[in-house]
Amino acid sequence: MQDGPIRRTVKATALGVFHLNLWADRARRAALGERPYRLGGACRRCAACCEAPAVRVHALVWLAPLLRRSFLWWQEKVNGFVLVDARRRERTFVFRCTHFDRATRSCDSYASRPGMCRDYPRALLYQASPELLPGCGYRPLARNAAALKRALDARPLSAEQRERLARQLYLE
Ligand code: SF4
Ligand code: SF4
Repeated sequence: MQDGPIRRTVKATALGVFHLNLWADRARRAALGERPYRLGGACRRCAACCEAPAVRVHALVWLAPLLRRSFLWWQEKVNGFVLVDARRRERTFVFRCTHFDRATRSCDSYASRPGMCRDYPRALLYQASPELLPGCGYRPLARNAAALKRALDARPLSAEQRERLARQLYLE
C-alpha cells in the first residue's frame, strides 16, 4: 500500500537519523583504517534487492525481546516489511516488502523508501569478498585497481590468467 502523508513524514525523519548513523559509522571505520571497495557499475533497476530485503541487527536487538519486537513492529508498520525469516547464525531478519509489486517489479512508494534501500549495496563493500545479488548492476572495485592492473600487465600471464586474476581481485 502506498505511503500516505503521515508515513512519509515519519519515514523522512527516520531517513535523516539513518544517514546520520551511517555517516558516524563510516567515519569510525575510516578512523580505524577500514578501506571499503569502491562502488563500480550502476543500478539497472532490476529490483533484485526488493525481492527479500534483509537486515542484520545488533546482538541486543536480536536477543532482547522488547527491542526485537519494537524493531519488527517498526519494520512492519512503518517500512511495510513483513517478517518471513530469521537467520540466527547471521542475526539477520528477512522480509517481504509490501511496497514491491512483483508484476511490474516496481516500488509503490519509491520517494519514501527506507535508507537501507537507498544504500544498497554500499554496506557490502566492507566485506572481504562482497557478494552482491545476482544480476545487480553494481560491482565492487579495488581501491588500487589501476596500479594492480599495471602490475598484472607487466607479468607474463596468459589472457585467461589475467582475466581470472582481474576478476578475483576486483579490478574491473
Ligand atoms: S520499499 Fe521500495 S525500494 Fe525498498 S524494498 Fe520495498 S519496494 Fe524495494
Ligand atoms: S539489485 Fe542492484 S541493480 Fe538491481 S535494483 Fe538493486 S541496486 Fe539496482
